[in-house]
Amino acid sequence: MECAEAREHLSDLNRGHLEAGTAEAVRAHVGQCASCAAALQREAEVRALIQARAPRYPAPPALRSRIQAAMAQDAFGGPGWRALLRSHPWTVGSLAGAIAVLLLVWGGTLWMARDPVSRLAAQAVAEHVEYAKEMMNRPIPDPPALVKELRSQVDFSFEPIFRGDSQVQLVAGLVSDLLGKRAAAFVYRDGSGRYTTLFLMPEAGTTIPAENRMPIETFKPHHRVTSGRHLLLWKQRDLACLLISDLDEAEMAAMFLKIRKAA
Ligand SMILES: [Zn+2]
Repeated sequence: MECAEAREHLSDLNRGHLEAGTAEAVRAHVGQCASCAAALQREAEVRALIQARAPRYPAPPALRSRIQAAMAQDAFGGPGWRALLRSHPWTVGSLAGAIAVLLLVWGGTLWMARDPVSRLAAQAVAEHVEYAKEMMNRPIPDPPALVKELRSQVDFSFEPIFRGDSQVQLVAGLVSDLLGKRAAAFVYRDGSGRYTTLFLMPEAGTTIPAENRMPIETFKPHHRVTSGRHLLLWKQRDLACLLISDLDEAEMAAMFLKIRKAA
């Protein structure tokens, strides 16, 4: 088997969709071709990432409203569902394809970042941007209910937490994974529609860089700018805290104080 033919079968091989003879031939080729072996490995990694992350991408609004319409029309399994699925044969494949492209770009950015804090920053900013997009048209939840919900989803204590004030609202609390560590993420929105995301996670294994400390009253969090957004990193109690914001530097410092003093 030649490379070109083997490449066409890599995805099906990973999914176990090949008949035995073809699978055997592809495996034989991959066994003696380093570049196809690497391609097979990448394919498996991208597939695993899609499976791990895909559920967090919401359905496009138009599709969501059609699903709701189909649900209203009749119960599960009725003709409404069959019509909906027939009209969207492309949905699963194209969404997965789009996510795969995003992940390759995103993975490339992470790979280029040198140190753990840079990788943490790159991933956290990507999450922040994603949250801001998702939150844009959502109704504001009740902060106590939101905090209670999140409390049951993480295995560390993150309270007390800043729950918003007259200038900024707490609009979401989510479970996130930053470089493989489970984190609680709180998303705030101000009156101008600018977002700030606070990530909290157990501090073990996180080192706050000694350089680039920003003096804010008596505090000195690490400060950097990643992809045009200000980012602060510090420790409090036994938590590592990461703040990413659309705000400018002075407004970010004010936001930091609200969060730092609430804890
Ligand atoms: Zn090959």
